[in-house]
Amino acid sequence: MKHLLYILAALAICVPSLAQNNNQIRVIMIGAHPDDCDQDAGGTAILLSQLGYAVKFVAVTNGDAGHQSEGGGQLAKRRYAEAQEAGKRFGVTYDVLDNHDGELVPSLDVRLQIIRKIREWNADIVMAPRPNDYHPDHRYTGVLVQDAAYMVAVPNIAAETPPSKKNPIFLYFQDFFQRPNPFRPDIAIDISSVFDQKIHALDAHASQFYEWLPWIGGYSEQVPKNISDREKWLATNRDIRITPEVKASLEKWYGKDKGAQIKHVEAFEICEYGTQPKEEDLKRLFPMLRMK
Ligand SMILES: [Zn+2]
Repeated sequence: MKHLLYILAALAICVPSLAQNNNQIRVIMIGAHPDDCDQDAGGTAILLSQLGYAVKFVAVTNGDAGHQSEGGGQLAKRRYAEAQEAGKRFGVTYDVLDNHDGELVPSLDVRLQIIRKIREWNADIVMAPRPNDYHPDHRYTGVLVQDAAYMVAVPNIAAETPPSKKNPIFLYFQDFFQRPNPFRPDIAIDISSVFDQKIHALDAHASQFYEWLPWIGGYSEQVPKNISDREKWLATNRDIRITPEVKASLEKWYGKDKGAQIKHVEAFEICEYGTQPKEEDLKRLFPMLRMK
């Protein structure tokens, strides 16, 4: 066994693909359910992964409550398989933590799970929901990631996992909630070139986009019966609305003319915890914002 470890260690030094590339930018997106990162930042994930970044999605719950007629372990397994397929289509790795859907609380146990995930990924950028969402799992995922934001650098917390050498930049996914304060689109990314690929990846979550969400939303009759018509419908159902604030951010980053014409967007707010990026840092990390 010891010899095998030496061989693996030697391979990791010799073969670049096995060793972690020190210059590679590493992004971890943390959502509550196995389809959240996909919807909020899937287009950005595709663009970053095309640039050679290492991108991981994490679902903090296993999704075992997200269906009207299925549930428990069987549903968790189905959703895990959907997440893996979606991950392939996005070009990211997809982890699902085995916490129950609909029952997430910001406990110390889950905080430690998240600290380990951020450290193990050696993340430069962490994305998560704001802690004022309508859904308790989304809200507490926001709280849990905030609670991890400083602790990832503290060696005596979850001491078996080496602490992050640098405190990552933390960004929030866009939402439309107004209280206690509305989302502020510090960054707005044009995802038009990969929008179809994003929709194709969302299509992997059949249990959600064609079954559960239409059922709970009362629009099941809109879902096309014919499977080949579904993605076209999903593209109209899952586009993110461009608010005046997001439009202003697009015009700032892409210039007035181009910004006004962009069709599909994902926006992010800089969290005031973690490393605070300057404008040049954002342009380095998100080279698409240098297009002006
Ligand atoms: Zn969700």
